[in-house]
Amino acid sequence: MAEILATRIRSDREDQLEEMIQRLTELDAADDLAQLDENTRGWRQSEWSARHANPVDGLMAELIAEVMAAMADLTDRPERLARVFVVTLKQESVAARLRQLADSSALVYFSDATFTLCGLYAGCAAEGLTGLYSGGRLRDLWRVARSVRDHQRLGADPALLGGLLRYYLVNQRIHALAAKLSHRLTSSAEPLGVWLTAQAVTFVLGHEIAHHVLDHRPATSDSPPADDLSACPLSEQQEFEADLLGYRAAVHVGRRDAARIPAGTGIDLPETGAALGALIGMLAIHVTEQGLFIRRGRSHPPAPARAARLLNEFSDPVRRFAEPFQADLLRATRDAADFSASGRPFDLAWFHAQPQVSTPLPLQNLQTVSILDRFQCRTREDHAAVLVGIDEISPFSLAAGACAGLAGDARAALLGWGVPDATAEEICAPHRALEFSTLVAKLRAAFAARGVPEKALLAGSLAGAQLLAPLLSRGEHPPAEI
Ligand SMILES: [Zn+2]
Repeated sequence: MAEILATRIRSDREDQLEEMIQRLTELDAADDLAQLDENTRGWRQSEWSARHANPVDGLMAELIAEVMAAMADLTDRPERLARVFVVTLKQESVAARLRQLADSSALVYFSDATFTLCGLYAGCAAEGLTGLYSGGRLRDLWRVARSVRDHQRLGADPALLGGLLRYYLVNQRIHALAAKLSHRLTSSAEPLGVWLTAQAVTFVLGHEIAHHVLDHRPATSDSPPADDLSACPLSEQQEFEADLLGYRAAVHVGRRDAARIPAGTGIDLPETGAALGALIGMLAIHVTEQGLFIRRGRSHPPAPARAARLLNEFSDPVRRFAEPFQADLLRATRDAADFSASGRPFDLAWFHAQPQVSTPLPLQNLQTVSILDRFQCRTREDHAAVLVGIDEISPFSLAAGACAGLAGDARAALLGWGVPDATAEEICAPHRALEFSTLVAKLRAAFAARGVPEKALLAGSLAGAQLLAPLLSRGEHPPAEI
């Protein structure tokens, strides 16, 4: 069953490439088109192009085959391994998850967002690590390990990673749009960036496949399956077991590959790569869950908790390397996912100060993102005041709902804003996952239906969503500022 579904769901990469070329042509983005052309030509000349239709599917197919082979060596469940299939999705809301089917086959969903976020973390980490030595060769990584050990720092620029993540999250939260800035790595950092990306993807794939191999069953859910957007609805212990097997599979893949790595590097590359890959993979999922969801549903435990358990499995030298590595990336992740009044909004000055970061979009788009982000990061009182202020131009009053929201009653606020009963029920149901962008869209639809003028819809829906987000997030109370 899973195999048939996988074939049906598979993303059409040819269409995706065509769309990208068309969009770049419309934007008159000559540099980006030239880069794309160069990449495509490089791919066609590579040995891989004979075996795979395109680079993304090619890389995924190679990594999946390697993880499967490692799992076969490490476990004795060939019958379960033979019935798990991986499919990549263009969707952004599902990070990575396992779908178990009635005939005991299973599908691993792996979204493009996870792939690009892994690449983004890996690229920033690679740039930072490369700054600590000059060789640009993997074998020189031991110098980095020594430097990290001596200085307790990774060298990655948290501002670079933070800005790239922030831009992505703001677009997703407000428009549910997969917009990313392009980060061009320096040539010396590129091999390390590609290697770390592959390590991270290997870990995430290994984690999901491990759930099926280990026969992890979700706890009984109190919501219908279609309602449950949970990324990985399993117990914390099962999550850790999947992390451990995923990590061991990644080390095993590295060991099988070790023949290609020169001896005498002074560092255990398979273990180091798997460890850093695991941390990146966890953070790539963590940042979307923290930044895009009001309620995550039953999901992976937060990355710091997962990492803390996995760090115990690393050998001492690798742990000494991995700890500061994780701390730096985690700091940037936390800042990027903070949309409270203390959050640091996306800043156009940051973009101008990053020579390696570019976009084919007009600067005005970035300016809009910056303005909307500053608006998000205002206080709840400010957001309530914006909603009350809309009354001056609107035939429908949002004031009563705003007061209810500010007083801590989300349901009364939603009903006061004209949100239909059933929709308000869904939004407030504590077991359901709720994305921030979904709440914005539902408020916008409700406001529009009541005649709130078009020009107030974006600000109104965004202010309303920010006002209610702390009330709707499970187990959280409104922040101390109110
Ligand atoms: Zn899981």
